[in-house]
Amino acid sequence: MSGLLADRIRDVPDYPKPGVVFKDITPLLADPVAFGALTDALAELCARYGATKVVGLEARGFILAAPVAVRAGLGFVPVRKAGKLPGATLGQAYELEYGTAEIEIHAEDLTPEDRIMVIDDVLATGGTAEASLALIRRAGAEVAGLAVLMELGFLEGRKRLEPALSGAPLEAL
Ligand code: IMP
Repeated sequence: MSGLLADRIRDVPDYPKPGVVFKDITPLLADPVAFGALTDALAELCARYGATKVVGLEARGFILAAPVAVRAGLGFVPVRKAGKLPGATLGQAYELEYGTAEIEIHAEDLTPEDRIMVIDDVLATGGTAEASLALIRRAGAEVAGLAVLMELGFLEGRKRLEPALSGAPLEAL
């Protein structure tokens, strides 16, 4: 399983800037067997941790989380970059290497009964995931877990996320 996925992730050197090796998941998405296996594995995590909804993080998180939600029989809620959602939003700012960014959610799509599985493609520094977990809790829902296709271990996002996860599982396939 991990070979099926790992063999279809392409390293792109010096993208988006010199010195960065970008993990490109498009070869995996183009392979229906690998994409199906990934969807099944993430849907299984939703069941294992009792999720009631799936939150996907813009933009590649949408591509993974939407089929997982359908496969698991759960609703899908997007976390978007600021200014993209049309309704009343809750926002959460977070630090980038240079400057800050903000993400938003339609809080009305979550309820206090919801247990949310957050899904993204890559966990790097953990900043995006950390802000998402805060947003979900501020929207009144519980975090069932965070599931990513891959984790860039050398950036130590897992360590940074420990307080924000507060006991919820972090699964990297
Ligand atoms: P973090 O906030 O530093 O953990 O960065 C994670 C976010 O950046 C995720 O939404 C990823 O989609 C994106 N990201 C960071 N590095 C990569 C990469 O190498 N490939 C694809 N996406 C990446």
